[in-house]
Amino acid sequence: QAKDMDRNNFQFFSSDLNVKVMERMVLESSLRRALERDEFQLLYQPQVDVITGSVVGFEALLRWHHPDLGTISPEKFIPLAEETGLILSIGEWVLRTACRQAKIWQDAGLRPVRMAVNLSGRQFRMKLDEIVAAILLETGFDPRWLELELTESILMRNASDNIELLQALTAMGCSLSIDDFGTGYSSLAYLKHFPLERLKIDRSFVRDVTTNPDDRAIAKIIIDMAHTLKMEVTAEGVEEREQLELLKRYGCREMQGFFFSRPVPAASAEKLLRKGITF
Ligand code: C2E
Ligand code: MG
Ligand code: MG
Ligand code: MG
Repeated sequence: QAKDMDRNNFQFFSSDLNVKVMERMVLESSLRRALERDEFQLLYQPQVDVITGSVVGFEALLRWHHPDLGTISPEKFIPLAEETGLILSIGEWVLRTACRQAKIWQDAGLRPVRMAVNLSGRQFRMKLDEIVAAILLETGFDPRWLELELTESILMRNASDNIELLQALTAMGCSLSIDDFGTGYSSLAYLKHFPLERLKIDRSFVRDVTTNPDDRAIAKIIIDMAHTLKMEVTAEGVEEREQLELLKRYGCREMQGFFFSRPVPAASAEKLLRKGITF
């Protein structure tokens, strides 16, 4: 009986694996065509200064509208895009689209705000500065308003090579922030060697910040550390007023999350900017 079970389990796992392999192949081949078929869209989530109550930036967040599967989350296709190298062309599209959109808003006379763009590890090569420079030139977007979001793991991998690249990007006028901060393993001593402008507190600490003393302590430490290192800090994933009030009391000035707005299409983002919403 044990043997039967083993065999069944084996079959179960093996067909399960086949399904996964098939799914992946189908997804990969459609991902290859997604750019030319214009299936990507950027949504924009406002970042709010909670002292003034106004929008000070947007984070560009990628969506893939698959013709059969519907909208696919970046958590699902970014890893595949990274493995296949497609992230290089997709990432360029994201940068260009975000810069172009922000430039359109500025040209329309709207109050200038930051545009934050996520980068993945594969994009983090020596050529990234050239790609960014070319896109800035092409779109005419002022790099002072461009913020590039990296993760701790990107930063820590080849840390010494990265410093030069990061310096090249900041020399151009771009600013750099660390996304999902607190979830990685960056050495604090190392942080100060990088030209970083901002830490983004990961939303896993924000979620229970009003009820969990550990998360509250972590959030407070990150805020204090950012300020000690002369960095800005943004809290991600703020969904409730209580979270906002507590983090504000701890000295966190900028926040992003469903409490303010979900990520929205460009037209709705523009309306938010025009309204100059106050929260
Ligand atoms: P991220 O950069 O940390 O982006 C924040 C994510 O949290 C977004 O998920 C956003 O929709 C979600 N979020 C924002 N506020 C709240 C909130 O109050 N509650 C909750 N539960 N969630 C909130 P999204 O758009 O699904 O993106 C997931 C991740 O995919 C991003 O995490 C980022 O790492 C990656 N990603 C998105 N767009 C791009 C891109 O253009 N390039 C690269 N390389 N990665 C991207
Ligand atoms: Mg991000
Ligand atoms: Mg994040
Ligand atoms: Mg993330």
